[in-house]
Amino acid sequence: MSHAPFIWHNGRLKPWQDATVHVSAHALHYGSSVFEGERVYATPQGPAYFRLADHTRRLFESARIYEIDIGYGEDAINAACLELIAANRMQSAYVRPIVFRGAGGLGVLAREGAPVDVAILALDWGAYLGDAIEHGADVCVSSWHRPAPNTFPSWAKAGGNYLSSQLIGLEARRGGYAEGIALGSNGLLSEGAGENLFLVRRGVLYTPPSSAGILAGITRDTVMTLAHDLGLAVEERDLPREALYTSDEIFMTGTAAEITPVRSVDRKPVGGGTPGPVTRALQQAFFGLFDGRTPDRRGWLTPVPGG
Ligand code: PMP
Repeated sequence: MSHAPFIWHNGRLKPWQDATVHVSAHALHYGSSVFEGERVYATPQGPAYFRLADHTRRLFESARIYEIDIGYGEDAINAACLELIAANRMQSAYVRPIVFRGAGGLGVLAREGAPVDVAILALDWGAYLGDAIEHGADVCVSSWHRPAPNTFPSWAKAGGNYLSSQLIGLEARRGGYAEGIALGSNGLLSEGAGENLFLVRRGVLYTPPSSAGILAGITRDTVMTLAHDLGLAVEERDLPREALYTSDEIFMTGTAAEITPVRSVDRKPVGGGTPGPVTRALQQAFFGLFDGRTPDRRGWLTPVPGG
C-alpha cells in the first residue's frame, strides 16, 4: 500500500505530510469520526469512481446520525473526490473520505461550534485479502459478537465501530485465519470485520438482512443487483451459524475486499474447498464493470475528468 502525494483537507489540496491533526482532537478521544472507503478503477475510458454518489450519501447519513455538520454539500464532496484523483494523476485508487470532530475541548460532547475536519486520502491499495480473491480465504467465526442494534448504529460507518472489527480481526489473525466472521447480538450471522457475507445454497444466494446490525454495504447491494441480472434468486434473511458449515459456496463483499471467496470456515472446507460457480460468475460480472465486459446500466461509474 502506498499513498498519493496530495490530500484534500478542509477545502484544499495539501502535501500528504502537511495534513496533520492536533492531539486534542475529539475524534481521537471519543471515536467521533465517520468515513467512507471507495474505489477508483482503471477502465478503458480512464479512471472512474465506482458508485461515488452512493458512498457520499452514506457518508452524509453517517454524519447525520451523530449530528456532525460536514460543512460542505454532497456535490462539493463528490467534486473534491474527483479533483483529488486528477491531482494525484492516479489510474486506480482506494479513497478514504473522513469527517471528524477536531480540537474542541475534552468533554464527551464537543462544545457547540467546535471544528469539524474533512479530509480525503487516496492510496494505491490492491486486493485487501491478497490472493484469497483467487483461491478463497480461510476464515473463522469470532468469539466476539457485533454490538446490538440499539447500542452502536451499524448503518453509520463510524470510526468507533471499528474497535469491534479490530477485536474480530486480531483474534482471527492470531488463529492463523485471513478474517473473522461475527455473530450478531441475537446469535445469528452478521458480517466479517470489514465485509458483508453471502452464502450460496442449492443455487440461491442468502445474506443477513441489513437490519441485523451490519453495515449496509454498497458492494453487497451491487452483488444483489448483479445476481438479479444473472437470474439468481437472492434472499435477505436471518441465518444461523451452522449455515456456514453446510453451504455450497460462501463469499464476502466490500469495497476493499471486492468479492472474496471463502474456502474454509473454522478449518472446515466450504463446498469442494475451491471457489464455486456462483461466486465466479458474480466476480466476473463485478470486475466486468471495470473492463467493459459488463455494461454499466445504472450509471455506477463516474469518470475522473482529466484523468
Ligand atoms: N461491513 C463492514 C463492517 C465494513 O467495514 C465494510 C467495508 N466498508 C463492509 C461491510 C462492506 O461495505 P461496502 O461494500 O460499502 O464497502
